Amino acid sequence: MKVNLLEFDLDGLAAFCEQLGEKRFRATQLFRWLHQRGADDFDHMSDLAKSLREKLKGCAHVQALPVISEHQSSDGTVKWLFDVGAGNAVEAVFIPEDDRGTLCISSQAGCAVGCRFCSTGHQGFSRNLTTGEIVAQLWFAEHMLRKRLGTTDRVISNVVMMGMGEPLQNYAALVPALRVMLDDHAYGLSRRRVTVSTSGVVPMMDRLAQDCPVALAVSLHAPNDSLRDDLVPLNRKYPVQELMDACNRYLEHAPRDFITFEYCMLDGVNDLPEHAMQLVDLVKQHAHTGVWCKFNLIPFNPFPASGLHRSAAARVTAFAGILMNAGIVTTVRKTRGDDIDAACGQLAGEVQDRTRVVERMAKRRTINIQLADAGAQTYKET
Ligand code: SAH
Ligand code: SF4
Repeated sequence: MKVNLLEFDLDGLAAFCEQLGEKRFRATQLFRWLHQRGADDFDHMSDLAKSLREKLKGCAHVQALPVISEHQSSDGTVKWLFDVGAGNAVEAVFIPEDDRGTLCISSQAGCAVGCRFCSTGHQGFSRNLTTGEIVAQLWFAEHMLRKRLGTTDRVISNVVMMGMGEPLQNYAALVPALRVMLDDHAYGLSRRRVTVSTSGVVPMMDRLAQDCPVALAVSLHAPNDSLRDDLVPLNRKYPVQELMDACNRYLEHAPRDFITFEYCMLDGVNDLPEHAMQLVDLVKQHAHTGVWCKFNLIPFNPFPASGLHRSAAARVTAFAGILMNAGIVTTVRKTRGDDIDAACGQLAGEVQDRTRVVERMAKRRTINIQLADAGAQTYKET
């Protein structure tokens, strides 16, 4: 079987080349061809010795992900659906803005965390993507957009791991992929412009701080354990307090001096003034400096199976107001690519669920309904 060269960071490629009897600088040349030039044909790599090119042809290839579909939104957002085999597909989204180009990529086919408001979560989990499959999304998008725009300049300036999957539950594949993004011989992205978004896998946050600190976004969504347990089931394992402590530890190594807290605004669930006030308490309590976090309020992108609704704009403004009055930098995320289902949490791909996430979620919904019914009864009795 041929080795997919997109699987390697530079050290990995150097080790592979060494096995072929080649020096490290050859690996660097090859790495540049792959990632800076987007080459996938060894014959085009003109400064590599013919003998090396022949060797590579025999044992290696550049395996791109087959594109199932491409959709372009009226606002310029582009969404690709990639085939990752066995009936699974993952999505990546390019979001052009005046001063940057952001690519949102996937780390898993599905997700095992099972957040109530997330359409990926509702699909269950199939498998981790490999490093090569994570990198292939960037490799494809960058070089395809350059061709389309007729430029040799960099098009993608920022990468966010906010597509399908929980990146910190695919740690071993994630870290080499991040290294490829950061490497000056590849995409050369700044650490501040590569963001890992996590639902709060505390031990892996600590490891990331050591192995490859990049910007960190934490999907908070609730100010207390009882609500967060329900919305983000991982909270039962790593409760809010532990998560806050992990954020502070991460900040000691982070390329930015703040954590971004993502907060999906769910009508009547987590969007009341009391929730905002609890958040203020939560983050102030731990603040070593005044500004160590920012809030990014995300209007919920509804999908029928969730049974949840988007908060009214006035609610979001009031919520943001409370945070800002307490001195917390708060932004409300613009929804982009709405018309092509490319907005946050709408990335659904295709997932052959191999876990019991979907079943568990259905059970939880039943329990919630029962609890609600029980609540109603108690109310009637008193
Ligand atoms: N698993 C990681 C990264 C992928 S989700 C995480 O949870 O952080 C990327 C972001 O989209 C997260 O903040 C997530 O909470 C948010 N999101 C998920 N479903 C959403 C929805 N339906 N509407 C708006 N945002 C959503
Ligand atoms: Fe997984 Fe993130 Fe969706 Fe939660 S929000 S189910 S962690 S992808």
